[in-house]
Amino acid sequence: MRRALIAGNWKLHGQRQDLQWLEALSSQLGKPPACDIVLCPPATLLSDMVGQAPDWIAVGAQDCSRHGSGAHTGEISAAMLADIGCRYVIVGHSERRADHGETDAVVKAKAEQALAVGLTPIICLGESLQERDAGRADEVCQAQLLASLPDAAASDVIIAYEPIWAIGTGRTASAEQAQDIHQVLRAAFRGQNRDALRILYGGSVKPDNAAALLRQPDIDGALVGGASLDPVSFAAIIDSVG
Ligand code: PEP
Repeated sequence: MRRALIAGNWKLHGQRQDLQWLEALSSQLGKPPACDIVLCPPATLLSDMVGQAPDWIAVGAQDCSRHGSGAHTGEISAAMLADIGCRYVIVGHSERRADHGETDAVVKAKAEQALAVGLTPIICLGESLQERDAGRADEVCQAQLLASLPDAAASDVIIAYEPIWAIGTGRTASAEQAQDIHQVLRAAFRGQNRDALRILYGGSVKPDNAAALLRQPDIDGALVGGASLDPVSFAAIIDSVG
C-alpha cells in the first residue's frame, strides 16, 4: 500500500511574513492528515521553514545543482539542502526545463545528487499540448522518465506527472487521462519495486478536483502549485486524501 503524498510548490512566492501559513494550515485541517505532506518554499525560506514546521510537514527545495561543489556561482547543492534539514527536492519542473533549458540528462544528474545525500528527488515530467494533440503523450512521458531517472533508481524516488498544458492554466487533466499516464509510467519504471513507486499528479490541482484524481489507483498524491499558497485550499486538498 502506497502512502499518499501531497506536496506544495510555492514557486517564486513567499517572504518571511508568509511563514504564518504554517499555523493557518494547521488550523484549517479538518482531521489529522492521512498522507505525507511536503512543502517546497523558495530557497530563502527553507531554513526558517525547517525550523518552524511541525514534524508532520517535511520541507523540500524547488531545485538543486547538478554539481556537488565547485565554481558554480548561484547554485545550491543537494548536500547543502540536506545540511539544513530538507528531505525532498523537486527536479525537472517544466518551468525549469523551459526557462533554464534543463534537459533530461541534467534532471537525471540532479536526481543523482539528491539521492547521494539522502534527499528524495521529486522528478517532474509531462507532455506539451502539441504532443498530447498528436497522440504522443504516452511515448513522450515514458521517454522522459527513462532519460531522467538515476541509473540506480529505486522506489525512493518520486515521480510527478505534470502535463505542461495543465500547469498554472486552470486546465486539469481528467482523472482518466492522468490515470492512463500514471499507469504507463509505472509499467515503464525500471527501478526496484515498481509497486512501491509513488507517482504524483500536478497541474491545476484544486480542492474541487483533488478527490477524483486521488481516487485513481495509480495516482499517489499531488504536486500543487497555485493552490498551495492558500492554506485554506491546501488544507482542503489534504483533507480530500483517504
Ligand atoms: C506546479 O507548480 O508544479 C503546478 C502543478 O502548478 P499549478 O498547481 O499551479 O498548476
